Amino acid sequence: MQIIDGKATAKAIKAEIAQEVTQMVQQGFRRPHLAAVLVGHDGGSETYVAYKIKDCEEVGFTSSLVRYEDNVTEEALLKKISELNADNGLDGFIVQLPLPDHISEQKIIEAIDPSKDVDGFHPVNVGKTVIGLPSFVSATPYGIVELIKRYNIETSGKNCVIVGRSNIVGRPLSILMSQKAINATVTVAHSRTKNLKEVCRNADILIPALGSPEFINEDMVKEGAVVIDVGTTRVKSDETKSGFRLKGDVNYEKVAPKCSFITPVPGGVGPMTRVSLLLNTLKAARLSQK
Ligand code: NAP
Repeated sequence: MQIIDGKATAKAIKAEIAQEVTQMVQQGFRRPHLAAVLVGHDGGSETYVAYKIKDCEEVGFTSSLVRYEDNVTEEALLKKISELNADNGLDGFIVQLPLPDHISEQKIIEAIDPSKDVDGFHPVNVGKTVIGLPSFVSATPYGIVELIKRYNIETSGKNCVIVGRSNIVGRPLSILMSQKAINATVTVAHSRTKNLKEVCRNADILIPALGSPEFINEDMVKEGAVVIDVGTTRVKSDETKSGFRLKGDVNYEKVAPKCSFITPVPGGVGPMTRVSLLLNTLKAARLSQK
């Protein structure tokens, strides 16, 4: 069994990005510039945005943070988005989700210029991904595919089962895994799937993304399977200073001995999600400064 080290892989990719930024600057281009729009003071969102800014600093990107209180109007947010769309000094931006209930997330996503939509949530980017055109792919599926490639995991003709069909993880990942470059035969399972245990046991590559801690047990996994655990749920713990720890969707202790490859939680998919946003921003910067 080999552990897929997302943390080390993300570190290596960050070094590659930093090197490319140095070259860009030497060639007279501007540093890639990512902006994040943060509404309110949700603890999770604050943490994610702080990580994104730290990641930018590490690779030599410029970053900006645009903050609003919870009571910002949808109109004001839309106005800011059109300003960011028009800002030639900015390569890409993200609006951290979730947004307060009085703001339509879909309306906000659709207001972002697809060429600056480095989260890859705009329907234009999703549509381009579906038909295999160059696009911004959302960070978690992008990071998972990158991990699979960098670990030389055989995918052609393999049965890939993804548990979860969300717009940010399961569904786009199912599209990527079935594309010609990867060639897996994909099943997307969800809460209405019958005989989930049997469906999962048929997987050569099992990717749980449901958000239910330790849901996948050893009786759901084929001997020799590749298991990529997307789930991250904060659970109470007496063993950490914070009083919480992150748990994946896989019962790691029991499942790992059966696997050929497995990602840990934390240290698997999470760091790859973070680095994928940087990769998308670098791509946006290359395109905008051509
Ligand atoms: P989500 O929007 O809540 O979607 C969960 C999906 O799982 C839904 O499609 C749901 O089915 C399915 N599901 C729920 N319970 C199920 C069950 N018992 N059996 C089969 N399917 C079930 O979640 P998400 O945003 O995709 O995130 C999923 C997990 O990944 C969460 O733990 C999240 O924190 C984590 N995540 C991690 C990263 C990372 O970087 N590591 C990034 C994104 C998300 P229905 O559609 O039928 O409701």
